[in-house]
Amino acid sequence: MHATEPDEPNQVGAKTAFDGESYDVLIVGAGASGLYMLYRVRQLGLSVRVLEAGGGVGGTWYWNRYPGARCDTDTLEYSYSFCEELQQEWEWPERYPTQPEILRYLEHVADRFALRSDISFNTRAAAAAFDEAANRWRVRTECGDRLSAQFLVMATGCLSVPITPKFDGVDSFAGPTYHTGRWPHEGVDFGGQRVGIIGTGSSAVQAIPVIAEQARQLVVFQRTAQYTVPARNQPVDPELVAAIKADYAGFRARNRRMQSGQLSHRPGNDISALAVDAAERERIFEQRWQAGGFLFFGSFNDLMVNEQANAAAAEFVRGKIRATVRDPGVAELLCPAHTIACKRPVLDSGYFETFNRGNVLLVDVQAAPIREITPSGVRTAAAHYELDCIIFATGFDGMTGALTAIDLRGRGGVTLRGEWAAGPRNYLGLAVPGFPNLFTITGPGSPSVLTNMMVAIEQHVEWVADCIGSLREQGHSCIEATAAAADAWVEHVNEVADRTLYPTCNSWYLGANIPGKPRVFMPLPGFPAYADKCEEVAGNGYEGFALA
Ligand code: NAP
Repeated sequence: MHATEPDEPNQVGAKTAFDGESYDVLIVGAGASGLYMLYRVRQLGLSVRVLEAGGGVGGTWYWNRYPGARCDTDTLEYSYSFCEELQQEWEWPERYPTQPEILRYLEHVADRFALRSDISFNTRAAAAAFDEAANRWRVRTECGDRLSAQFLVMATGCLSVPITPKFDGVDSFAGPTYHTGRWPHEGVDFGGQRVGIIGTGSSAVQAIPVIAEQARQLVVFQRTAQYTVPARNQPVDPELVAAIKADYAGFRARNRRMQSGQLSHRPGNDISALAVDAAERERIFEQRWQAGGFLFFGSFNDLMVNEQANAAAAEFVRGKIRATVRDPGVAELLCPAHTIACKRPVLDSGYFETFNRGNVLLVDVQAAPIREITPSGVRTAAAHYELDCIIFATGFDGMTGALTAIDLRGRGGVTLRGEWAAGPRNYLGLAVPGFPNLFTITGPGSPSVLTNMMVAIEQHVEWVADCIGSLREQGHSCIEATAAAADAWVEHVNEVADRTLYPTCNSWYLGANIPGKPRVFMPLPGFPAYADKCEEVAGNGYEGFALA
């Protein structure tokens, strides 16, 4: 038995009132980027509709309702900057926002700006084809609606297609199964249950300490040990809030000049880890470890470019794991060996401490891989674990998954799936040659997931809105990235990534979590230089694009 998805799309044939309508702009997705895109398109005075697969707004924060789900960017920075009243009025209670709070915030934004009337919920875009004769995108939804638009904006998110590995027998399990990225809205009571959780990424690291407190037994199936840093969540500091709100616009502007799109008030330490002796290095790591959050990764300026500097940070974290976990065997199993932060850095609240509990068992599925799911549990190469329910915290088809899930066809019926079979090829992470008037918000090839997502989203949405506005002003009806610009861009993204340690381990940034997915580093390390480049391109009359 499997937990049903919380929202079922309309059945084929159950068309909506919008079937047959045409718009200036169609947006796919009503998460943080789709909502803001809608707001900006309306300001241009254009007709617009948003297609949203879920039953409500929020995207990531609509679907990921697992216990402990929380953003790990500070609340005051993980929010929109476009409305001064909104940012002044909204009050976040804690340093990091919980999933329910972020969802409440996004719902508030939808209501405050009366956005819902232009959104079709429970409506999944199935296919979109560019009609060259009409110069329009023709979009079909899973419920059979056919709509058309001059511009199509994919606001489909970087981590929105959950992946459940194809374990033998996965459908035979008698109890419920859950994916962290499709959590039941009514929640799950784990009281008295033997719970298995597969995966130890960001989602699992947040869920494990919370579920361990409820379950009779929690079995954690770990393939790759995880570096995690204490989040040190706490109530927001009223003095900090007052200082930021006294000049919120200035704070946002300064954050937009940071590589991480955040923390301008707590910048990284701009020296090499090798420029100080071991004792001083330890002191700085410790200071930032105590401060909590991503500040640790700013301990020195070369953690992601210098192997020795990186190794020092990794060893510091392993020391913390050994000092926290009482059983030395379990502690060693929890000590990662790979480059720190080449997989997406993780923040936790009591993760390693959880393995000191009597009801938590760590199972090494690298040494003894999962062989099958049986009706009563999980069998590894070494043992069988009896379970009442299984949680898949096994991640997403990142960056490209939501784009290739839709049957997107450009000029001559060419498919995006086919074009990207060897890896994403686009210009600025925003536009694909052969796919005119199509924009991807936080697409592969843009900083997106390596930056505060809210900053990345606002920068893209504003660029796309300005672009559409400028095209219309100048009487252009079509914009398309050139093949040469895209080739040069892909080369640039690879070059930048290859100068870092990011490509040195198996991460979803590289598509390495999906068997058969081409190994290409997808996000671009390099905000704000990237934003400057986008400005320059626009300023030069959309250099690298063909306008018609
Ligand atoms: P993830 O980071 O991709 O982690 C997936 C986990 O499942 C990994 O531990 C992976 O092991 C394991 N796994 C996958 N297939 C497996 C298999 N066949 N057998 C055993 N283990 C398997 O996914 P996630 O935790 O959902 O996080 C995805 C991203 O979402 C994060 O990196 C982050 O960007 C975002 N996120 C953010 C927050 C936040 O803001 N706090 C919270 C949650 C998620 P391997 O490492 O060996 O592949």
